[in-house]
Amino acid sequence: MRHGRPIGPSVMSWARSEVSHAGRGRDRGGNVPPMPALLSDDYEERCLWQSQVTPPMATHDSLPAEADVVVVGAGLCGLAAADTFARAGRSVVVLEREPLCWGASSRNGGMVIPELKAGPLTLERRYGPVGRRMHHEILEAYEYVRGLATGADGTDPVACSWDEPGMLLVAHSTRHVDRVRGLVEELTSIGESAHVVERNDLHNEIGSDAFVAGAVVDKTGSVQPAALHAGLAVRAMAAGSSVHDRTALRSLERRTGGHDVVTTRGVVRAAKVVLATNAAVDRTVPQLERRVLPVGSYIIATEVLPEALAASILPTGRMVFDTRNFLAYWRLTPDGRLAYGGRRNMDPTDVADARDFLYDQMVAVHPQLAGVQVTHAWGGNVAMTLDRLPHIGQIEGAWYATGCNGSGVALNTWLGHRLAAALCGDVPFPACAELRHRSLPFHSARSAYLPLVGRYLSLEDAR
Ligand SMILES: Cc1cc2nc3c(=O)[nH]c(=O)nc-3n(C[C@H](O)[C@H](O)[C@H](O)COP(=O)(O)OP(=O)(O)OC[C@H]3O[C@@H](n4cnc5c(N)ncnc54)[C@H](O)[C@@H]3O)c2cc1C
Repeated sequence: MRHGRPIGPSVMSWARSEVSHAGRGRDRGGNVPPMPALLSDDYEERCLWQSQVTPPMATHDSLPAEADVVVVGAGLCGLAAADTFARAGRSVVVLEREPLCWGASSRNGGMVIPELKAGPLTLERRYGPVGRRMHHEILEAYEYVRGLATGADGTDPVACSWDEPGMLLVAHSTRHVDRVRGLVEELTSIGESAHVVERNDLHNEIGSDAFVAGAVVDKTGSVQPAALHAGLAVRAMAAGSSVHDRTALRSLERRTGGHDVVTTRGVVRAAKVVLATNAAVDRTVPQLERRVLPVGSYIIATEVLPEALAASILPTGRMVFDTRNFLAYWRLTPDGRLAYGGRRNMDPTDVADARDFLYDQMVAVHPQLAGVQVTHAWGGNVAMTLDRLPHIGQIEGAWYATGCNGSGVALNTWLGHRLAAALCGDVPFPACAELRHRSLPFHSARSAYLPLVGRYLSLEDAR
């Protein structure tokens, strides 16, 4: 097995903390491990997207002693914040613990989905006017990323293979058909374009007999995520941000008028601090770490498929999800492969184990892919919150934006942008700043109880 770009320290330790299933007996959940995936000769345990994009060089100068703003984390959220601050004339320093463009923002499925795990009416029922605003803002988030990718915002477009194929949500059991119909009803009631696809018509959307109904939501985009991430880094630096990778936040020391930001390469005195660490949050700010649960998600990419085979799988080229708790998500890539993502349960795992599971599931859903080889497999973490909503808040005077809950390409990019604009005094804070952000219960014991939660969710999925 070849390895490409070296795996950075944080994912190494994350992978080590999860036990591997090298023995391939029955696992702790009683599941029979899947047959090994069919691998190409040049298979790499590496992110496909990252193998196709050269990341930009980070700023070489030494760390400035002072800045108006220090942003911690150079993912989509941190870079969008930096870009917005810099365009508003603020001096900005971005700290990134890993090599630039290494993390989740380059490793995701590239699905640009304006969703908050509940439809607009449900959000309003649960949260009143804040819920209504949150739905409007997720649509704004989508338009923001569309603007970046297409130049519709009047700036140079970030080249990232932007397309707008729509999303297909497929019900994996009859128990979930109401959910699919409910989503369509909620979206169409506020004028969004969506429709139900009945079982007999599903073959027009997907080459699979595994599903009983579907919903198409037209407002969904797709990108090559590493290209979007790299392009946003270039844009933020061109606007004047100084971006320092391999430079970690060590501690924040509050002082009059701001913070001393202590890093592995020196101290920056900042008037404002924005923590944009999402699932990559570490123990530097324990109050934030306790509010976010990092959960691994994995993706395999096949070899480039013959055109007819690709069209037989996803004739409309939509971004696809199923309705499981441990949902699968899949799409065709701009170069004609299938990227298939998900995870089996909450048990400890590693990329090889997840890859075999995903391959098995992919072939069960699309039997026409039997014999197709996997060229890449990788993983990363998503940031779950207790209420499955994003949050903006303050800890010891430092601002943070977090909680993608699996869908942060539109959401977190916009949260970074909008938090920065609000801190410049130009616009109100996003509605999610009004939600209470609760810590996860029994946070330090999570490795003991999460597999049990996973077991319960898997049982539900099997019904
Ligand atoms: C496998 C996978 C598939 C996904 N698929 C999709 C998808 O299809 N669509 C979608 O919308 N979302 C998807 N997501 C989620 C999406 O990738 C994230 O929501 C998004 O990238 C979050 O961006 P961010 O900038 O908030 O966080 P990140 O990109 O995680 O950036 C946070 C950064 O903070 C840095 N950091 C942390 N601590 C420190 C410190 N102490 N000092 C300095 N730097 C620090 C980290 O190194 C990291 O680079 C997926 C995620 C994964 C892992």
